[in-house]
Order: sequence, then C-alpha cells, then structure tokens
Amino acid sequence: MSGRRLIIAIDGPAGAGKSTVAKHLAAHFGLLNLETGAMYRAFALKALGRRLDPGDAASLERLAASTEIVLEPGPAGNRVLLDGADVTERIRDAEVTQAASRVSVHPAIRAWMVDLQREMGKAGGVVMEGRDIGTVVFPDADLKFFLDASPEARSQRRYEQATGPVEIAAASEGISAVSKELRERDDRDRNRKDSPLRPALDAVIIDSTALTLDEVLGRIESIVKERLATEPLVRE
Ligand code: C5P
Repeated sequence: MSGRRLIIAIDGPAGAGKSTVAKHLAAHFGLLNLETGAMYRAFALKALGRRLDPGDAASLERLAASTEIVLEPGPAGNRVLLDGADVTERIRDAEVTQAASRVSVHPAIRAWMVDLQREMGKAGGVVMEGRDIGTVVFPDADLKFFLDASPEARSQRRYEQATGPVEIAAASEGISAVSKELRERDDRDRNRKDSPLRPALDAVIIDSTALTLDEVLGRIESIVKERLATEPLVRE
C-alpha cells in the first residue's frame, strides 16, 4: 500500500450531474465530498450583501482578505460557513448563482479559492467537484472525470430538479429561463482567461445526454473499482 489516499476530481458544466455523482461516489467509497462551487457561491453572497460590483476585481480582492469560507462535508451534502454563519440554503438563489460565476473569473479570487481547496483535499480521501479540479486544483488527482451533456439535457434536468425558492421562480417562468441562465454561466465558465472550464487531458469524459444516472454511476464506479484493485488508494 502506497499510503496515499484517493483523490477523485469531477469537473463539468452546470447541470451535468456532478453533485449527484460526487455524492454517490463519496458514500460508496467512503470519501469526503467537497463541492467547490459552494465556496464561490458563498463569496458571491457576501459580495452581493456589500453591494459590490462582481466585475470590480480590486474591491473583491479586498473583501476576500477578510472573508472566511469553510466547507463542512456531511452525508447529506456540504454545509457552508461564511464568516462562521451557515449560508448553505442562501447560496442556491438564482442571483447568487449568477454572481458566483461572475466573481469566479478574477484570478486573485481563484488563487485564494484554489489554495483553500488544496489545503482541504491534500490528505486525500476526497471526491472534489468543480470546474478546474483536474486541470488546476489537483492536476495529479488519481482519477479525473469530466461530466458533460447537451445544453438541452442539462437545462431539462435543472428544470425538473429546481429546489430553491428562487430557482422555482425561475423554473416557473419556463424551461427557457432555466436554459438561458445555464448557457450564460457556461459561456462565462468556458471563456474566462483564468482556468476556463475544459477537460484535463487525462480526464475520462462522460457524456450523459443519452444515459440514465444509474448508467453514469455504473461506468464511473467500475473505473474507480478497477483503479482500487490495482492500487489501493482508499482512505482507511
Ligand atoms: O458548481 P456550482 O454551480 O455551484 O458553481 C457555481 C459557479 O462557481 C460556477 O458557475 C462557476 O462559475 C464557479 N466555479 C468555478 N470553479 C469551481 C467551482 C465553481 O469557477 N471549481
């Protein structure tokens, strides 16, 4: 046994099923599930509360210097603490979702988040989910998955799963509103200069447009099992 613990990176656009897959893998293989998007969301919530312009890099950087964000992984998902306050529910609002994608384009904000994420994951035994985990945060992750699906399939899933009050409001405007929100965020994530959303060269790319959740999980679990059989990297 090498003594290293498993690090699984899961990246992909919004609505591709990353959270669901990460949650299942964490439960199945006894790993911690760390949702990095929740950290960008928590910071965006604070920036919105201060009425900062999400495009104002200098003000955001100053705000970041006095901000503490803690992810507490648990069986039901991650609890997110912003300066000690539990903001787990509030970060799912549509306004926060868009702001998260806008604040996350700034290199200084990303560098701060990446440091925090590396610190949280360095002991291994984690499945970390986001946009840049396999490319930037843990380029040496043991396994990397890039989950994708057509924009139509992702919008449809988001529409059906809408849970937060504002998301329901968006969903009640129809699937086209959900689809517009998703495309805007995707474009920003894919086209930003610093760590744009893209698969790592060594990522396993899974397009789930025509797959059920069970099929996606089956494929991913068998790849993880195969890896564990040749090199037991699992957390004790
Ligand atoms: O994954 P989630 O939808 O919660 O992420 C919210 C936003 O945070 C994304 O649209 C993206 O702009 C940003 N994000 C990021 N890098 C990550 C995770 C999320 O830029 N690793």
